[in-house]
Parts: sequence; C-alpha cells; structure tokens
Amino acid sequence: MRFGILFGPPGIGKGTIGKVLSEKWNYPIISTGDVLRDSVKEATDIGKKAEIYMKKGELVPDEIVFEALKEKIGQQNSKPGILIDGFPRNINQAIMLDRIFKNDDKIVVLNFVASDSVVIERLSLRRICKNCGAIYHLKNIPPKKEGECDVCGGELIQRDDDKPHVIARRLEVFRNETKPLLEYYSKKYKVITVDASDNLEKIIKKVEEHKLWE
Ligand code: AMP
Repeated sequence: MRFGILFGPPGIGKGTIGKVLSEKWNYPIISTGDVLRDSVKEATDIGKKAEIYMKKGELVPDEIVFEALKEKIGQQNSKPGILIDGFPRNINQAIMLDRIFKNDDKIVVLNFVASDSVVIERLSLRRICKNCGAIYHLKNIPPKKEGECDVCGGELIQRDDDKPHVIARRLEVFRNETKPLLEYYSKKYKVITVDASDNLEKIIKKVEEHKLWE
C-alpha cells in the first residue's frame, strides 16, 4: 500500500490539494480534521470530547484521533494508496502511525511550505460547506453563487477555528509540536517539499514532477 502523508501548517491547502490528488490517483483521502468535525456534528462521545480542544485550536488527545484514523484506514484496504491529511501532528502520533505501516508499504511525505502571511490569508478567507465540507476560498476558489456550495447547495460558513485568535494558536501548535516531525520523517521516509504559495494547478504539477513512489 502507498501512503501519502500531507504535511504542512493549517491553511496551507492540504485539503484542497489532497482532494485533487485523490481524484487524479484514485486514492481515498482521510482527513482527521474532517473525521473529528463529523463526530462533533453528530454529537458522538468522541465529538463531544474533541470539540473542547478544537474550539481552542489545541490538539485533540492522540489516542482519540488515532483510533478514529485507524478505523478509517482499515476500511480502505482494497485501495492501492491512501492520502492522510492532518495526521500526525506530533512525534507520539508519528510513532503510532509507523506501527500500522507494513514492511512493504511505501510512504511519502508531501511537505507543503508557504510564508505565514499566505497561510493566514488562506485561513481567514476559507469557507466550508456546512453540509458536505467542500472547501472554498473567497478570492481564489469562490463559489459560483455567493454563500452557497457548488456541490450540494449547502450553506457556506467560516469554521470556528478559522477566527483570528484561534488561528494564532493553531499556528503556534504547528510550529512547536508538528513542524519538528520533519526531522523525524526525513530520516525515515522520502520527504518531498513543495512551495504551496502558487495556484492550485501549479502546485499539483510540482507534486507530479517528482517520482513519488519509486
Ligand atoms: P484540521 O482540519 O486538520 O485543521 O484540524 C482541525 C482541528 O482538529 C485541529 O486544530 C485539532 O484540534 C483537531 N485535529 C485534527 N487532526 C488532529 C490530530 N492528528 N491530532 C490532534 N488533533 C487533531
């Protein structure tokens, strides 16, 4: 099985880029943020716990997120590859994930980089569909009809954690806990660094210029 770990700060575009790659390659994408948001929406036990952390821009406890991820990965074992967005977020999670990889799995880390100002702008102008989770950007990827999802007609909203004070905390958590993982990964797996400041088309082209799985 091929695993592509989408790595980078919140707001850099992992969800948007991942969706395009997922459709091109026919690899499902598992986003732990989406899984948690669904649990919050459904008010499950996990959702109720997770919401407390998510609202503040803090990481949800590792065990909770990992169990949810493991279940999703288990449902995809007939696929040739899987893209993972939003996991791991710290060293402990990376170790947990390593344990479920098998010897013949091929792992590539796609490391997306951009300046803080690009990331903050993307987070502030991001809107998502309340119903299906589709992602928009008010300037770069606007919906055809204002406030309405192109896919399902659902209402477009700003995520609670895309509000300015929470954004600052999420970026801090990324810098302190998640970014150090790059060093861990560069010793273990192939890490491809792609500048994500460009438009989506160029980013995809840059990703595909690499021989990812060889
Ligand atoms: P995201 O959609 O990836 O930006 O995630 C939104 C929020 O969900 C994060 O700010 C965390 O509170 C939580 N979350 C998502 N993935 C993880 C993870 N791997 N570990 C802990 N918390 C997570």
